[in-house]
Amino acid sequence: MAFMVDFAIVGGGIIGSAVARELARRKAGSVLVVEKEPALGRHASGRNSGVIHSGINQKPGSLKARMCVEGARRAREFCRRRGVPMRECGTMVLAREEGERKVLERLLEMGTACGVPGLRILDSRELAEREPEARGAAALLSPTGAVVDPVRFLEAVAEEARGLGVGYRLGTAVLRAEKGRLWTSEGPIDVGHTVNCAGLHADRIARMMGVRPDLRIIPFRGEYMEVEGLDIRGMVYEAPDLRFPFLGIHLTRGTDGRLLAGPSAVLSFGRESYEKQIHIKEAGEMLSWGQFWRMASSTAFLGLAWKNARTSLSRRAFEEEMLALVRASGPVRLKPARAGIRAQLVDAAGRLVDDLVLERAERSTHVLNAVSPGMTASLAFADAVADAVLETAKAV
Ligand SMILES: Cc1cc2nc3c(=O)[nH]c(=O)nc-3n(C[C@H](O)[C@H](O)[C@H](O)COP(=O)(O)OP(=O)(O)OC[C@H]3O[C@@H](n4cnc5c(N)ncnc54)[C@H](O)[C@@H]3O)c2cc1C
Repeated sequence: MAFMVDFAIVGGGIIGSAVARELARRKAGSVLVVEKEPALGRHASGRNSGVIHSGINQKPGSLKARMCVEGARRAREFCRRRGVPMRECGTMVLAREEGERKVLERLLEMGTACGVPGLRILDSRELAEREPEARGAAALLSPTGAVVDPVRFLEAVAEEARGLGVGYRLGTAVLRAEKGRLWTSEGPIDVGHTVNCAGLHADRIARMMGVRPDLRIIPFRGEYMEVEGLDIRGMVYEAPDLRFPFLGIHLTRGTDGRLLAGPSAVLSFGRESYEKQIHIKEAGEMLSWGQFWRMASSTAFLGLAWKNARTSLSRRAFEEEMLALVRASGPVRLKPARAGIRAQLVDAAGRLVDDLVLERAERSTHVLNAVSPGMTASLAFADAVADAVLETAKAV
């Protein structure tokens, strides 16, 4: 006989765990998280920069902007309350020349429209006082930016969920999903409502349930280097190219005191190819999808791809790009650190989808495109997902 549960969450990353915690807080029924890995945090939620983004580069009015600003406030409050390691150091975006100064002004406008508190532009003197080794004629300071330990954050959210009665089945992969039933590697589960939070595989779970087969996740790997010999105290970012949903390379002093540079944004030939390996089946599926080529042939995409392929293939190119952000006073050493993979959604026109996507179906809800700043947004977004789940469940 199949095990029965009111709500099954596919994926125990930060989104799935935050949604499970929220459903349990609302006493909505029994909640079970089904996670294919033997431990939490093996994918994006444990492999990101750990930055609580303040929301400066979000499109005003978008779901992501609202979730980011509110999520950042809640995440900082949660980490303080739970003792999750966090550095509340603020974020700085550097402008090294006039074109980049315009990007700062645009970010200031966008951030203010999104409700990000305390933004201001620093001149070179103030920048030098805060970050003596950062290179820039000006910088945008966002004082609410912070860095957390992403795995400890996830574990604390999951611990609260467990405390509220949520069950976790680790090492259990969902192999097939249909309305009312999940077929897992450990046997079938009868489900009142399925919440798909499967990150890099969320489009596949959705497709199995007949939801948005027109959308695909295209994986973009972000590689990091650990940097020694630089006196960067908080977080410094290069001015981003606002045509893309990715921030540029940045330097982040983590809660463990290590300085990380990255991440890059390189097309990955496998959804979990952290070591740059080519997954023949997944690469074949990606390359044979017509919209992939529409995405890949845009001039802007080619520019981004070339810049990032250079920094992925050559340590010297990565170092050059990173050193352009700083005035190093001594020798700088780099060594490869972790990599993470972004679950970037692409639509039927071959466009990179920018906003968070929440799809409702009969007896299932699907979180697609939980890209950065998904960790920041997670606690606020979980509220929105729980609202959608409970409304849909009530309507059945
Ligand atoms: C390089 C990089 C840097 C980033 N930096 C930041 C940052 O600084 N700040 C920020 O706010 N956000 C950042 N993000 C974004 C953030 O990490 C994600 O938005 C967030 O982690 C998404 O959480 P998730 O739960 O959707 O995904 P995941 O953490 O990937 O969780 C999905 C889970 O589903 C499981 N799963 C998948 N398929 C199945 C299946 N069939 N059966 C059972 N389980 C399954 C997986 O094993 C996984 O554990 C970054 C992302 C990347 C990749």
